[in-house]
Amino acid sequence: MTQNKPVRVRFAPSPTGALHIGGVRTALYNMLFARQQGGTFILRIEDTDQNRYVPGAEAYILEALAWCGIVPDEGPNHGGEVGPYRQSERKDLYRQYAEQLVASGQAYYAFDREQDLDAMRERLKQAGNQAPQYDHRIRMDMRNSLSMDPEDVTYRMNEGEDFIIRLKIDPGQEIHVQDEIRGDVVFRSDELDDKVLLKTDGMPTYHLANIVDDHLMGITHVIRGEEWLPSTAHHVLLYRGLGWEDTMPAFAHLPLIMKPDGKGKLSKRDGARFGMPVFPLSWQGESEEDSFVGFRETGFDPRAVVNFLAFLGWNPGTEQEIFSIEELIKAFSIDRIHKSGARFDFDKAQWYNQQYLQSTPSHELAKQITPLVEANGWQSDLTFLAKVCDLMKERVSYTLEIPTQGSYFFTDVEAYDEAMVRKRWKPESRTHLEAIMTQLTSRDDFSTEELENLVKQYLEENQIGFGAVLPLFRLALAGTMKGPGVFEMMEVLGKERSLARLKKAMGDFDRICG
Ligand code: GLU
Repeated sequence: MTQNKPVRVRFAPSPTGALHIGGVRTALYNMLFARQQGGTFILRIEDTDQNRYVPGAEAYILEALAWCGIVPDEGPNHGGEVGPYRQSERKDLYRQYAEQLVASGQAYYAFDREQDLDAMRERLKQAGNQAPQYDHRIRMDMRNSLSMDPEDVTYRMNEGEDFIIRLKIDPGQEIHVQDEIRGDVVFRSDELDDKVLLKTDGMPTYHLANIVDDHLMGITHVIRGEEWLPSTAHHVLLYRGLGWEDTMPAFAHLPLIMKPDGKGKLSKRDGARFGMPVFPLSWQGESEEDSFVGFRETGFDPRAVVNFLAFLGWNPGTEQEIFSIEELIKAFSIDRIHKSGARFDFDKAQWYNQQYLQSTPSHELAKQITPLVEANGWQSDLTFLAKVCDLMKERVSYTLEIPTQGSYFFTDVEAYDEAMVRKRWKPESRTHLEAIMTQLTSRDDFSTEELENLVKQYLEENQIGFGAVLPLFRLALAGTMKGPGVFEMMEVLGKERSLARLKKAMGDFDRICG
């Protein structure tokens, strides 16, 4: 096998739309493996299917990978010795290999028109075959260089008739794929169709281009999604047919990503259905159905996304869950990739985000929220923002929620939780609040401890509980019962604003309860 050669792996997306989060996982695993092995990680754009090409998709792929910190060593924008790395720019390269297979009797020309193929499918369906395909059973009934007179074939080609090249798969063989994750996977050639290798426009199909490029680019390991496992039988036959079996890469097919409820494969529609992102970045497609909100725009830290994705189908075999990219590179191993589907647990993704958010120094978070705060025209000096972040970071899932959920740090309370006000604003409440406020007015030290001592002492002296005043303080200062500790909040708001809010709230509370 190829294991002794320097590792070369590739991520080979097709630019047919926004890159699914599963694609990002594939790219990540490839990069982790390459870095760990001291190998090379290649990005190859597989854009030979002109009908499915979507403008902007390649740029999206590059941006999504860059956001996650997944950086190719070679690729369309990264240089490298074996380019070009965009298959459309390699178009002329592929035909010779298809022709080589025809010359050695392992592929053939086919002239079937669309209506011939439709008729064939219809005929097979009528005969009870629900999955009709172009294969060894029917090829001699079709219009191709195996069934037709050689002179006829030459004539048609000279006349410029459209033709394609198909792989000829002989029945009666067992094809073994040694998958690094799944072990020995066996396919029977009887079941395989004669895949198209070259299309009428001279463009290769995915199968031909993929094998030729993996060979020419010296790929040693193919790490990709499980949906490609069935194609691997064809790929093995192509390697064999082209005489490249000795340098055939090792294969590792990654487990499917399943819906949060575990019922079936995660689809792009599940984002809307479950109210969560399933794409790295937002994407504006042609229609609403084809437009998605991304992890980035939801407010995720890319490190959290990477950590979450690493665990989507792999585990390190220890209790550790938080891994930096360097730690992942050290710990990663193909052996520990799971065989069974990986459930896309969005709560876990949020949990990861919270872990990263909480471990980010508040002055860093302050910088991150500055543009959001400034957009609202709010107080944005970094010392103040850092204090707000300090109090809020344990209470939110995303950094961008700090200024929204903590808007009361920046702007006066506009609305109160009225049901709560009605429940807490008692006839004697005003007396207590006013007495405490009088004491507060004479204090210069507005630190959390001072405030807490003062209020505690008042409560003790008057033999009343925290519940009689603290919820009212909270409602007056923030409008809501949620949020950080009352005294911490007051310290950050400062004496003047805290007292002004308490004063105003008493009038508002009377009105609400009046
Ligand atoms: N172009 C294929 C894709 O879009 C690549 C599959 C492979 O890695 O072989 O996923």
